[in-house]
Amino acid sequence: MPSNGPRGLAVFAAPGRYVQGRGALSTLASELERLGVSAPLVLVDPAVREIASPAIAAVSGASVLEFRGECSPGEIERVAAAASENQADAIVGIGGGKTMDTAKAVAHPVKLPLVIVPTIASTDAPTSALSVVYDDDGAFLEYRFWSSNPHLVLLDTEVIAGAPVRFLVAGIGDGLSTWFEADASSTTRAPAMAGGAPLGAALNLARLCYDTLLADGVAARQAVERGVVTPALERVVEANTLLSGLGFESGGLAAAHSVHNGLTVLHETHDFWHGEKVAFGVISMLMLEGRPTETVDEVVDLCLDVGLPVTLADLGVDAEHADLQKVAEAACAEGETIHNLPFGVDPSMVVDAMLAADAYGQERRALRERTRPLPAVAA
Ligand SMILES: [Zn+2]
Repeated sequence: MPSNGPRGLAVFAAPGRYVQGRGALSTLASELERLGVSAPLVLVDPAVREIASPAIAAVSGASVLEFRGECSPGEIERVAAAASENQADAIVGIGGGKTMDTAKAVAHPVKLPLVIVPTIASTDAPTSALSVVYDDDGAFLEYRFWSSNPHLVLLDTEVIAGAPVRFLVAGIGDGLSTWFEADASSTTRAPAMAGGAPLGAALNLARLCYDTLLADGVAARQAVERGVVTPALERVVEANTLLSGLGFESGGLAAAHSVHNGLTVLHETHDFWHGEKVAFGVISMLMLEGRPTETVDEVVDLCLDVGLPVTLADLGVDAEHADLQKVAEAACAEGETIHNLPFGVDPSMVVDAMLAADAYGQERRALRERTRPLPAVAA
């Protein structure tokens, strides 16, 4: 966990610069020049190498390395060795979450400027000072906390619009949690990941994130399904990436992410993405807190409209036979952010909240299906 500042201090952390829009990738060279970088090491996901190659070719003095697929200690070491060999003066990570996390883990220990170029909008990780490290087989190893956020986050919405829609939808699921978790944890002034209590700035960004997803989530999904860039897509990409990133890091996490972490103990949830499990974690959290029905309907309806899970079965979990006690115990483990809630939580409360969320999701879907058809949940 992050080290906490002296009691009572508030902290707000953010990347030095955030650039987003259609064609933003073509500004990579000039943005690097702006940072005074002349010999960056570019770590690129092979899946997006072709799309990124004109932008990379325009960067003079760059050395390019393809990411090997896992943010593991071995991969971090390999990329770090290449950076040192090429006397790189900055690290650029182009790709998804694991590429970005590896770039962070290479740049920070040697204090090189860090540039993050997300090619999907599936999580709120790009702006943060955090890497999730796995072993070579993809099993979770540890969080690594860094002392600063990226110098630059550069996001091309044309690239996002060209990626499979499930990425954007998962990002909406992750972004849905931000307001509720920051709202709940801020009442206790629990230190957020940034290392202090939240300021009003973080809470307001978290609220804007939620309002944006409610207003534009459906239109953004439709835009990516057609591969087009629209103002609604721009706003949702900003919500998924910048607003959610700043909101969670400086605003605080609570139960939704703990339920997510708990669900990962069930093998059957492994095919589902972070944001998809977080979405069900949000509904469970609303049940745990006893939030008003209108709020639950608002969240569940958005999930149904964009194709996010609202039941345990949507996540491949058999509500009757799965070991939900084990999920709840993991969600309540020491150090879990669920303990940032302003009341004590034990595993039996979490089991009940998940079952209540499941029942609510089933009934709401049945009701909605009688009125108009819904998009399928990704499988
Ligand atoms: Zn998340």
